[in-house]
Amino acid sequence: MEQVSAQRLTSLDEEPPLTNQEVGITFPPSDIKRSEKSRSTLFRKKFFPNTTLTQWNDWHWQLFHRITTLEQLYTYLSPTAEEKAALDRKEWMFPFSVTPYYLSLIDLNDPFDPLRKTVIPQIAENTVSPGEAVDPLGEDHTTPVAGLVHRYPDRVLFLATSFCSVYCRYCTRSRLVGGHTEALEEHWEHALDYIAGHSEIRDVIISGGDPLTLSDGRLGYLLGRLKKISHVQMVRIGTKVPFVLPQRITPALIKVLKTYRPLYINIHATHPNEFSEASRQACNRLADAGIVLGSQTVLLKGVNDSVATMTNLFHKLLTVRVRPYYLFQCDPITGSAHFRTTIEAGKEIMRGIRGFTSGFAVPYYVVDTPGGGGKVPILPEYEVSHDEKGLCLRNYEGKLFTYPDERHL
Ligand code: SF4
Repeated sequence: MEQVSAQRLTSLDEEPPLTNQEVGITFPPSDIKRSEKSRSTLFRKKFFPNTTLTQWNDWHWQLFHRITTLEQLYTYLSPTAEEKAALDRKEWMFPFSVTPYYLSLIDLNDPFDPLRKTVIPQIAENTVSPGEAVDPLGEDHTTPVAGLVHRYPDRVLFLATSFCSVYCRYCTRSRLVGGHTEALEEHWEHALDYIAGHSEIRDVIISGGDPLTLSDGRLGYLLGRLKKISHVQMVRIGTKVPFVLPQRITPALIKVLKTYRPLYINIHATHPNEFSEASRQACNRLADAGIVLGSQTVLLKGVNDSVATMTNLFHKLLTVRVRPYYLFQCDPITGSAHFRTTIEAGKEIMRGIRGFTSGFAVPYYVVDTPGGGGKVPILPEYEVSHDEKGLCLRNYEGKLFTYPDERHL
């Protein structure tokens, strides 16, 4: 792994020293609001008392100290019976991994903490429900060369790595990520040759796994190769790093990314609790570098399925110059029933957001259609009728208005 200095992450060092009492305490109950800054600091001082803030802010340190087993998890919290049963399984499971930083955002005393539900396995993952599949989007059928999905004519999905620092339990690509299949990096050259040979491809989305876990050198190489293909007009990166490993957004990485502008980064954001001083700084660094930022969020039962939580999340994203882009209905990946809401619940959330806040804070609510039909937007019913009188629309308050559509006059 290349060595990245954390020296320049100085603004994250500006934490007030903790009192002896604070260092010695167990975490307070979840109803006591702690400041975002003290959250990570308390965690570090309690569980890593000999670790300096500079080490904590080094993304390599975070990766090295990931929590990946039940035994390690016991150090931090008491697993629920469902979590213990899931992690005790002897047969293969989608890997478990969480960075110390992300664990520090979780209320360790609250088994219902929203972020905890998204990263700590539950035995419900073992239950296969009707309609679920390991490849619900049928991506394997639109994979002309390994590691490349070519579903839409002018766009491809470049699966650059199978590694993520944190594994989301509802991951659509759990069949590919987690390092249990062949390393996707082996296929880069074939995928690049395919893109170079197809002049209709103008948009490449680098995904995985999480591409921002690649080293600066590897990422720079991939971006450089794509830049040299004349018909590729835009490159996008999909990542969750700014919210699970914000220490990765180093000045050195920013320098690489800046070289290959225009560059678009879509950040996977789940819940307002993911906002901290570190994640804000990561997003701001990317925005300051002239990278266009958008977000994508998966609608998850018991995690973010309320108007208040979603509105809060989208508002917070805008404060760090991330435009809410997609709200995804959770894909029917095998073992995901405990995460999936009804479509009506999603519509209800959209009804509660649109019109009640700035349009900039409203993402597209989409279903990525099973079998590979692509993303289809879902709208609450705003059109009431369309006849010779015009188009009758229901506004966000439920009031009716008619637009005099010329075609019907
Ligand atoms: S970060 Fe993305 S690719 Fe990685 S586990 Fe989460 S959803 Fe899957």
